[in-house]
Amino acid sequence: MDEIINDFAALARCYLAGVGIRHVFPAQPALARLQALDIPLQDEPVDPRRVLALLDEIGSPATVASSGGRYFGFVIGGSLPAALAANLLAGVWDQNACLDAASPVAAALERVAGRWLLSVLGLPPTAGFGFVTGATMANFAGLAAARHAVLRQAGWDVEAKGLFGAPPITVVVGDEVHVSLLKALSMLGLGRDRVVRVSVDDQGRMLADRIPMLQGPAIVCIQAANVNSGAFDPADEICRRVHASANTWVHVDGAFGLWAAASPRFAHLVRGTGQADSWATDAHKWLNAPYDSGLVFVRKPEHLAAAMSASAAYLTEGTNREPCHFVPEISRRARGIEVWAALYSLGRKGLAELVERNCRQASRFARGLAAAGYEVLNDVVLNQVLVSFGNEDTTRRVIARLQEDGTCWCGGTHWQGRTAMRISVSSWRTVDQDIEDSLAAMLRIARAESAAKP
Ligand SMILES: *Cc1c(COP(=O)(O)O)cnc(C)c1O
Repeated sequence: MDEIINDFAALARCYLAGVGIRHVFPAQPALARLQALDIPLQDEPVDPRRVLALLDEIGSPATVASSGGRYFGFVIGGSLPAALAANLLAGVWDQNACLDAASPVAAALERVAGRWLLSVLGLPPTAGFGFVTGATMANFAGLAAARHAVLRQAGWDVEAKGLFGAPPITVVVGDEVHVSLLKALSMLGLGRDRVVRVSVDDQGRMLADRIPMLQGPAIVCIQAANVNSGAFDPADEICRRVHASANTWVHVDGAFGLWAAASPRFAHLVRGTGQADSWATDAHKWLNAPYDSGLVFVRKPEHLAAAMSASAAYLTEGTNREPCHFVPEISRRARGIEVWAALYSLGRKGLAELVERNCRQASRFARGLAAAGYEVLNDVVLNQVLVSFGNEDTTRRVIARLQEDGTCWCGGTHWQGRTAMRISVSSWRTVDQDIEDSLAAMLRIARAESAAKP
């Protein structure tokens, strides 16, 4: 063990030192070498140190440098030093976070981190919470709690009887709903296609006055924020309208946007989200915890527990919070430790600074691109920027060339009928020089591509 831990420490140091200077997307030869891992399974055991050495030799150069400062694809955060170290320590501890009895330390860290999270995210202090793999499963768990609560109020026990014969639930989403939310609905038997879609404005925000008159049981799913534009649905108005009808539930998909609540400068964007009934967010996005780490919160913990626990026995067990009563899994890794470590290391000020810095950096991208004559397609209110470099073809070529160039990495997206490059600034590792270097690469490539006739 000693030797392999030393080997590991050396290669981790080397990898992290290199991540800031190498091509962000792995070069073709590194990808081609992945074949070296495709070997027939040996009959004989292999020395663990050789296993690690081969992984590092072949695997490390083929990674995407998303833990570095110039990765702006999707919405992908880095790993804070304390959170990464806590993740490694959690691996050493090898705790099963299912029950207090299986790991008192994992259960205790979840309790504390949960309380901290509710406070920094501006959610009700008595809400229930669960540590899941990502926002997809957080949406799933929050919507399962919603399904439980609205059907129970309609006199139906969905956990016991399933959906066959149940009163129908009206499910409302915005036209700009994230695919993961539809996936969660489909897994819950609520259906992707039977949802009521509400139109959105030019930033992708749900138009509150287009929500139909609801008759419960009903679940309305809103966003904080849109994955492309970073715009927030008007939670205040939507919650007021929806809760005016009986037996209704508002669920918030706040995968990255909910973290705006942690900054006094940006908290106005989430105004009203605290009035909802359940919330989903990611710790692996803006909190910069390592993968995988999502969080679900439900106003009344008993609704989450009723939907997630293996049996109704949760009602009669001891007084300690049992982690597995709040998530789909039973056995799982102790994610609470990284979330606890990330929050403890940043403090309220550090978290607010991270959010504000990334937003300021996104604005810098937008200003630099607009000043050079390229069209920024969204109001940059948060950390997301959408830019067009001309027609669809040119924009696609610029994205492809930028990805090959390796200075940074951005992906493509569709926004209100247009093809765009999406920039998401979500990492503690991103310093202002990373923005200047990446902006220079974007402008250099965009000029060359606009000059070259398609
Ligand atoms: C990223 C994202 C999700 C999905 O999160 P995962 O962590 O990938 O499961 C859901 N909704 C929104 C708005 C997102 O940005």
